[in-house]
Amino acid sequence: MGLLIYLNGKFVPEKEAKISVFDHGLLYGDGVFEGLRSYKGKIFKLDEHLIRLFNSAKAIALTIPLKFEELKKAVIETVRKNQLKDSYIRIVVTRGVGDLGLDPKKCKIPTIFIIASKIQLYPESLYEKGIDVITVPTRRNLNESLNPAIKSLNYLNNILAKIEANNSGATEGLILNQFGYISECTGENIFIVKKEIIITPPVSAGALSGITRDVVIDISEKIGLKVKEENITRYDVYTSDECFLTGTAAEIVPVVKIDGRIIGDGRPGKITLKIRNEFHLLTEKEGTPVYE
Ligand code: PMP
Repeated sequence: MGLLIYLNGKFVPEKEAKISVFDHGLLYGDGVFEGLRSYKGKIFKLDEHLIRLFNSAKAIALTIPLKFEELKKAVIETVRKNQLKDSYIRIVVTRGVGDLGLDPKKCKIPTIFIIASKIQLYPESLYEKGIDVITVPTRRNLNESLNPAIKSLNYLNNILAKIEANNSGATEGLILNQFGYISECTGENIFIVKKEIIITPPVSAGALSGITRDVVIDISEKIGLKVKEENITRYDVYTSDECFLTGTAAEIVPVVKIDGRIIGDGRPGKITLKIRNEFHLLTEKEGTPVYE
């Protein structure tokens, strides 16, 4: 049995969940999206993800055709209808159907769909061993062009970086901004640990304001670690004691090698594992219940 997809206000079977070839989300990547997870029947950080979605939409002057609370209900309902407990949820809002020109004025009704399904980015063994990362040639989009803070459907910058990482045989690609500072990876934020201080690049360096990133900052402070958001270079990463990536789909992934340099002792760091453990405890405890 396939999934039930929320599409423009209705639930339709996966096979019937189709959009027009004139949709500008497809023709031009004109739209925004979010990726969320539910754990044990509770959606983690639902409000935070929806706030970011509404902000992304605002930044591209796209009006989401549902109010915040309506969208929240639709997301909950999508998980419920698919009877999922642990799920990965994708919300997509596009500019909608227009003509073959790019002018969004011609797109009268945004398209909105929600998929609740599953995801596993990496096999469990990689979480235990840690991953290797390589710096990719493609630079982050400029803040003054397509600001990477917008979670838009225009992900080619990230996809080119992922292709470069794949071609090098690395698991992930580290993306620098135009100044040579580290922004983030292709679909995750980056953290380093140096002398028990947690450091992550600021959003202004070209990083998405990750929801998992915020959770990790909170956890770190709660367990008594100092957190800094500051520009870092590859030198800082190479000489760090620990390094890890964060994202909704990937969760918390230890990094043990970058550009051929072994990080720490080449195994997932103690602080990384502690934060990862606290993160999992939180995902089990917190969240918006789907089945109440
Ligand atoms: N950076 C990018 C480019 C992303 O696409 C994502 C989400 N996959 C992240 C960082 C992590 O953000 P979050 O923790 O909110 O999923």
